[in-house]
Amino acid sequence: EEPDAALAVPQAGDPQLKLLSRIGVADPGSLDSYRANGGYRALRRAFALGPAGVLREVTDSGLVGRGGAAFPTGRKWQATASQPDHPHYVVCNADESEPGTFKDRVLMEGDPFALIESMTIAGYATGAHKGFLYLRGEYPRALRRLTDAIAQARARGLLGDDVLGQGYAFDIEIRRGAGAYICGEETALFNSLEGNRGEPRSKPPFPVEKGLFGKPTAANNVETLVNVLPVLEMGAEAYAAIGTGKSTGPKLFCVAGSVERPGIYELPFGATLGDLLNLAGVTGDLRAVLLGGAAGGFVRGDELDIPLTFEGTREAGTTLGSGVVLALDSSVPLPRILLRIAEFFRDESCGQCVPCRIGTVRQEEALHRLAARVGAPSTNGSNATAGTAEDIALLREVGEAMRDASICGLGQTAWNAVESAIDRLGAYA
Ligand code: NAD
Ligand code: SF4
Repeated sequence: EEPDAALAVPQAGDPQLKLLSRIGVADPGSLDSYRANGGYRALRRAFALGPAGVLREVTDSGLVGRGGAAFPTGRKWQATASQPDHPHYVVCNADESEPGTFKDRVLMEGDPFALIESMTIAGYATGAHKGFLYLRGEYPRALRRLTDAIAQARARGLLGDDVLGQGYAFDIEIRRGAGAYICGEETALFNSLEGNRGEPRSKPPFPVEKGLFGKPTAANNVETLVNVLPVLEMGAEAYAAIGTGKSTGPKLFCVAGSVERPGIYELPFGATLGDLLNLAGVTGDLRAVLLGGAAGGFVRGDELDIPLTFEGTREAGTTLGSGVVLALDSSVPLPRILLRIAEFFRDESCGQCVPCRIGTVRQEEALHRLAARVGAPSTNGSNATAGTAEDIALLREVGEAMRDASICGLGQTAWNAVESAIDRLGAYA
C-alpha cells in the first residue's frame, strides 16, 4: 500500500491547526476516535442553530470556495436553499485533478469523518436529503476510508433516516471518476453522475438553480466543506478574524518541487509565499514558482513577498487557484515543463468546443517547435530566432481565443501558465 497520507503533513500534531488538526492524531478508521477529537460537535451546533442559522454563520464567516474559484459558500448555499424546485442535492467535488493538488486527498484519507459530517451540515442547511461524493478514481485509499466511514456513520445513526435523532434524513453515495480531468468541472461532473458523457454545460443557469438531474445543487470542494466545521465550532466572527478581510480562515497549500519538506501546509490566509517556502525549505537556487497548478501561473523566484490570499495574488497578476505551490530551481528545464502542461491540456480537453479542441493542439505544436530551438544557434545575434518570435505571437493569438471563447475553465485557463512563463520568466528570450 502507498505511504500514509499523514506523511504528507509536515505540521501534523500542531495544536494551532484547524483543518489538519486530526491528521496523524485521530485514527481515520474509527468513529470513536473522531468523536474523541472533536468530531460531530459542529453538526450538533448546526441542529441547535437550525438551517437558517447555519446559512447565516457560513455567510458571516466569509468562507469562499477552496476548489480554486473562491465563490462565497454562504451565497451558494443560500441560493440553493431558497429554490422552490425539489429535491435539492449536495455534491462534494472530490475529483481533485489539478496537477500538483493533493490537499483533498490528505483530508479524505486522514480525516474521512470530517467530510461526512460537513456534507451532512451542507445538506441540512440547503434542504437536501441526498449527497453525492464524486471521488477521483485514482484515490483508492480515500475510497476505502470513506466507504468504511459512511458505513460506521450509518450504523451509529449519524447518516440515515433520523440523523442524531433530530428528524432529519440524509445519506451519502460515493461515485468514482474514471480518470478524466474535465469531470472535475462541476457541470461535467453532473453529466458523469447522470450517466452521460463528461462534457461541461454552459453556465448560467448555475447549479444552485439547475444542477444535478436539473435540480438545485450545492456543489462544493472537499476543503471548502471541511472549513464549515471550524466555522460552526468557533463561530463566524472568530473564524472571520483568521486571515484577511477578503480571504478569511485557514488555507491548505500543496507544496512540491525543489523543497526539502514537500507536503500539505495549513496557514492563515495572508502569510506570504516566502513564509510558506521557508517552512518547506527551498533547495537550490529558486528560479520560479508555479502557483495554482497547470491552470495557474508562474512567478519569479524573487517574488516571495506575494501575500497568499485571493486578492493579493490577483493584485500580483497571478492566482492562488487550488493552492498549488510548485517550486522550481534553476536546474529545472522550463521548456520541458511548459510542454508537459500543454500536453496535459491537449489530452484532457473534452473536445466539445472549437477554441479549446484546436487551440490546445496548436499550443502544444508551437511549444514543441520552441523547445526544439532552445540552445540552437541564433540567426540574428540575439537568443531568439525569427521563428521563435512568430511562434510566441501565434501562442498569444491562440491563447486569447481559448481564453475568450472556450465554454469552460479548462480552455479558458489552458494558456495561463505558458503566458506567465513567457511574460514573467522570459522563457525562450
Ligand atoms: P466559476 O467561477 O465558474 O464558478 C465557481 C463556483 O461558483 C461554481 O460552483 C459556480 O457554480 C458558482 N457560481 C459562479 N457564479 C455564480 C452565480 N452567479 N450564482 C451562483 N453560483 C455561482 O469557476 P469554475 O469553472 O467552477 O472553477 C474554476 C476553478 O477551478 C479555477 O480557479 C481552477 O483553479 C479550479 N480547478 C481546480 C481543480 C482541482 O483539482 N481542485 C482542477 C481544475 C480546476
Ligand atoms: Fe471541453 Fe475544452 Fe470546451 Fe471545456 S473548453 S467544454 S474542456 S472543449
